[in-house]
Amino acid sequence: MARYEKLFIGGEWVAPVDGSLVESIDPSTGKPWAIVAFGGAKDIDRAVAAARAAFEGPWRKMPGHERAAIMRRFADLYKENAPRLAELETRDNGRAIRESRMDIGSHNNWYHWFASLADKMSGRTIPIEDSVHAFTTRQPVGVVGAITPWNVPMMSAAWKLGPALAAGCTVVLKPAEQTPVTSLELAKLFEEAGFPPGVVNVVPGDGPGAGAHLVAHPDVNKIAFTGEGETAKRILHTGAETLKRFSFELGGKAPHIIFGDADVDQALNAATSSAWALCGQSCALGSRVLVERSVYDRVVDEFVKRSAKVRVGMPLDAATHMGPQAHLEQLEKTLSYIEIGQQEGADLVAGGKRLTEGPLADGYFVSPTVFASANNTMRIAREEIFGPVAALIPFDGEEEAVAIANDANYGLAAGLWTGDVGRAHRVSARINAGIVWVNTYRYIRWSTPYGGFKASGWGRENGLEALDSYLETKTTVISATGQFPDAFAQ
Ligand code: NAD
Repeated sequence: MARYEKLFIGGEWVAPVDGSLVESIDPSTGKPWAIVAFGGAKDIDRAVAAARAAFEGPWRKMPGHERAAIMRRFADLYKENAPRLAELETRDNGRAIRESRMDIGSHNNWYHWFASLADKMSGRTIPIEDSVHAFTTRQPVGVVGAITPWNVPMMSAAWKLGPALAAGCTVVLKPAEQTPVTSLELAKLFEEAGFPPGVVNVVPGDGPGAGAHLVAHPDVNKIAFTGEGETAKRILHTGAETLKRFSFELGGKAPHIIFGDADVDQALNAATSSAWALCGQSCALGSRVLVERSVYDRVVDEFVKRSAKVRVGMPLDAATHMGPQAHLEQLEKTLSYIEIGQQEGADLVAGGKRLTEGPLADGYFVSPTVFASANNTMRIAREEIFGPVAALIPFDGEEEAVAIANDANYGLAAGLWTGDVGRAHRVSARINAGIVWVNTYRYIRWSTPYGGFKASGWGRENGLEALDSYLETKTTVISATGQFPDAFAQ
């Protein structure tokens, strides 16, 4: 059993105030694999105090290029440790190791890219009249509470810590209770890279306890949250009293549109991979596959054939394509939606079962699942399942494709496949989503803003927009004359 019994607060490894520990479950076996420190309100108080002291002390005063140098050291350490972090993340959330390696192997780019911005946050001068000098400067927001989900703990941390640290903020990171291990490993790298104590603090704990206390804390200036919409609503209520800043990366139900004029083979590569990657547990996956009727039967057939080629297996095996669902509650949710889809009259043409044979018996494995003859009124097409379940919906023509795509509460991502460049422009312009991929899918970089319309979130991560969300703008107006009229002279 791995042991992670200390929290990382103020540059020191400390036991939780009340000594609480929890077990982290390996979803491929259903058994605990690590014992982890479990922070509560008092630990959050200590972490926020350390983050505040670091913010008012060394971090805020440090020139941007020096902050950048520490961030670059950290980015290099992250790259060196990526294979180990990938293995630990796979232990914690069951994501196939080939995916974890590819994902975590790229996060150093986030830290490097944001480091390169740490000394480039300039304001502007605003011309008014000769005797007045007006200009803006950018200041860090302050202490940030970063709250991350279980599906992509390291990615969510990189997307928040990169811009926050570059901006000059300090951070209390609270990972999801199901997947705390890699965030504590990350803390070791922050220590090794030489960040001043308190710049980054890591406190695993649960949502209603540690998470809610972080949100309510009057000395936290911003909450950067990735998770479910219902949690975001609770966070807004809890945080309302202190009027702090919020950014939210929430759920999605992305339409993946395949027009008959597309290169259908390429579209199928993308559509099947983005239906089943991360075992369906990603906000950006194309779980609603909208297919023009002229190629609908071909796409359904191919989905079925390709589902049989997906190797579902133990996640640490390099040959495995798809691991288990990350925890028992998620497994139950996915199975319940498979039931709902059948009751709603969609045609279950592949998968739909928990896998209970041989070494997979105790884990939370589900086969890649395909529903044909789905329509957009069904719950399987409207609600975020977060399992490897694709709903294939036929459409006729551009108008209907756009109408179905936009008929959703969510608006995070969308994909479209077409051989007609005019159509690519027309359709992408009309889709209500924070990111639209044309003839590609899930192309995400540190420099490309990412976030949702509608119920998919507030604000953007990645890109210059992310940095902005960790900065306040200050306008300074200086009179060169120092003359001020007496309003009460007459
Ligand atoms: P969740 O909302 O259950 O939990 C996320 C985090 O919030 C956890 O750390 C949890 O402990 C914490 N939390 C829970 N209740 C809280 C409270 N009352 N106050 C403060 N913190 C609280 O989400 P999840 O199930 O871990 O993650 C899955 C969700 O995340 C999905 O909806 C998915 O679409 C979304 N997601 C979105 C993106 C994106 O970039 N848009 C990326 C990944 C995941």
